[in-house]
Amino acid sequence: AMYAAKNNGRNCYNYFTQSLQDTAQARRRLTNELRGALNNKQLEVYYQPIIDLQTGLVTKADALLRWHHPEYGFISPLEFIPLAEETGLINNISDWVFRQSSDKAKRWSGQYSNEFQISINLSPMQFKLDNHLFITQWKNHLQKIDLSGQNVAVEITEGLLLNAEPEVIDKLHWLRNAGIQVAIDDFGTGYSSLSYLQKFDIDYLKIDKSFVNNLENNANDITLCGAIILMAHTLGLKVIAEGVETTGQKKILSDAGCDFAQGYLFSRPVPADVFEKILGAESADSGYA
Ligand code: C2E
Ligand code: CA
Repeated sequence: AMYAAKNNGRNCYNYFTQSLQDTAQARRRLTNELRGALNNKQLEVYYQPIIDLQTGLVTKADALLRWHHPEYGFISPLEFIPLAEETGLINNISDWVFRQSSDKAKRWSGQYSNEFQISINLSPMQFKLDNHLFITQWKNHLQKIDLSGQNVAVEITEGLLLNAEPEVIDKLHWLRNAGIQVAIDDFGTGYSSLSYLQKFDIDYLKIDKSFVNNLENNANDITLCGAIILMAHTLGLKVIAEGVETTGQKKILSDAGCDFAQGYLFSRPVPADVFEKILGAESADSGYA
């Protein structure tokens, strides 16, 4: 209520209204249910294909979490990831996403291409916490399933690298030593600084979909994407464009030298069995099957 009053301007009274109370209660309830969601098998990892623009083949996947709530139906990660972060549940959830995804990376790299890679979205919180648990657990899991770190990547946001604390740098180093690649997610939306790209060993820049959106009717965005790609290549990084929805956008990016793309034009994020069919169909087409 206090925040609502502040948002409405200073000389305004605001009571803790029924609707605010409902919101707070709904949030509490959702948080409690999220605790059970993992055990109750309500979470599922979806995979969105990432296409190599030179060959047109699916060479990577972005692992995107889904919550199938028994009552409310599908709840967006944009809604429940913040709850998971507030409660610390993000650690367990992320470990689970890692295990699911690396098991699939093992299977699909064996079946289709040994370079096949799955990238996992990491919350900044996991870096800032002073625990090395996730590092140890991930390491053990990779060993257990005999998977090279090369088949896994993590996606982090620019904000994490800005004024990076020692814990962050430490964890990034470990990821590197394990051969795990690092991508900067939503590039261009935060405080983009070129210096951190050199300071840390980064492998990919993911151009945010807000730039890709307007490529066909905004010359500035073409210039911007072109500049990001050029800069990335100069620094030895590869570029992945997010949110590619039209063939026009794909062509502009491809002409600008962009390396990879993901978006509804190719496929929405899909469950593992559907993703496997996409890979299967593709390898049948290319005669490798
Ligand atoms: P993100 O990392 O930027 O992921 C890309 C989002 O764009 C996904 O939304 C994806 O479904 C959507 N998308 C893909 N192609 C297109 C397109 O062509 N057009 C449009 N309009 N959208 C497209 P989603 O799956 O709802 O995920 C939202 C965010 O939730 C992700 O944004 C990511 O930051 C976060 N998230 C998802 N899974 C995890 C997870 O396991 N851990 C953490 N920490 N965050 C996650
Ligand atoms: Ca991402």
